[in-house]
Amino acid sequence: MSEFDLIRRYFTRATPSALLGVGDDAALLQVSDGYVLAVSSDMLVSGTHFFADADPFMLGHKTLAVNLSDMAAMGANPRWATLAIALPDANEAWLEKFSAGFFALADRHRVELVGGDTTRGPLNLCVTIFGEVPAQQALRRSGAKIGDEVWVSGTLGDAALALAHLQGRIQLNAVEYAACAPALHQPQPRVALGLALRGVANCAIDISDGLLADLGHMLSASCVGARLDFSALPISPVLRAHLQQPPGMQCALSGGDDYELCFTAPAARHAELLDIAARLNLPLTFIGEIVAGSGCIVHDAAGDPLNIEILGYDHFR
Ligand code: ADP
Ligand code: MG
Repeated sequence: MSEFDLIRRYFTRATPSALLGVGDDAALLQVSDGYVLAVSSDMLVSGTHFFADADPFMLGHKTLAVNLSDMAAMGANPRWATLAIALPDANEAWLEKFSAGFFALADRHRVELVGGDTTRGPLNLCVTIFGEVPAQQALRRSGAKIGDEVWVSGTLGDAALALAHLQGRIQLNAVEYAACAPALHQPQPRVALGLALRGVANCAIDISDGLLADLGHMLSASCVGARLDFSALPISPVLRAHLQQPPGMQCALSGGDDYELCFTAPAARHAELLDIAARLNLPLTFIGEIVAGSGCIVHDAAGDPLNIEILGYDHFR
């Protein structure tokens, strides 16, 4: 199969919202009046971000999901994507499943694949995504204000727990693994939440590297600190059952790959956020507050600070 047959068969779909999609030297895209483009790329490398024998359907899903998550964290509505892909060979069974996983998620979010690049090489997947947001409503990392409440969507640490199981660092039974594996293999980007947070949240980030690391980026960009209540963190029943044993707490605080949103909003918006949670059928949990200073303190139920140094991302990895 030639490169062009491959592109036509697996990566060419109708792109009604683009002026020009796959097949020319570049795509042509018209941004809606009053909006600016939010643009982001995320690369998934075999051996680093996924196992070489990963299920191709789920890999197609995740390749796009991690990019949609960046749009969500910006409050942007994802519209178009490009896909640069290096493949060791033209394995049609693999391509069939990969593209099915990719387009199933793309269709759900009405995102159109408008171009890309295809080359032979070690498996490597890079999506660039283009979304639209009113410039003044983009959810920048730098917007957190002292007194804001800190919130997080969904639950924390399930993806890291599933990964720890696969790496033999913890033992889950089949039911437990089945409960947390979707967080690792098929994360659900919080696009609808990102849109709902426009004009409500001051600041947002998606949790790809763990709560502490990603919240830390937000805090330094905003020149503020945070105080979190460990007992308030949204933790699934499976992770809760393993919390007292390493790497349980590390999963919750520093586990990557969750793709939930962490955001801050004025306390006056608290009730509104609970309404958004109900409307989206997505748990939103108030986990702490923004304070003057820098860095993050996590305290336990008794109010004593946890030693989060030993729970840090680098050590965990
Ligand atoms: P060029 O030689 O200009 O780089 P290519 O031959 O690489 O063009 O690509 C031909 C067309 O197919 C272009 O429109 C490009 O955007 C598109 N394309 C290439 N690879 C992919 C892919 N993996 N997914 C979607 N579109 C692709
Ligand atoms: Mg090319």
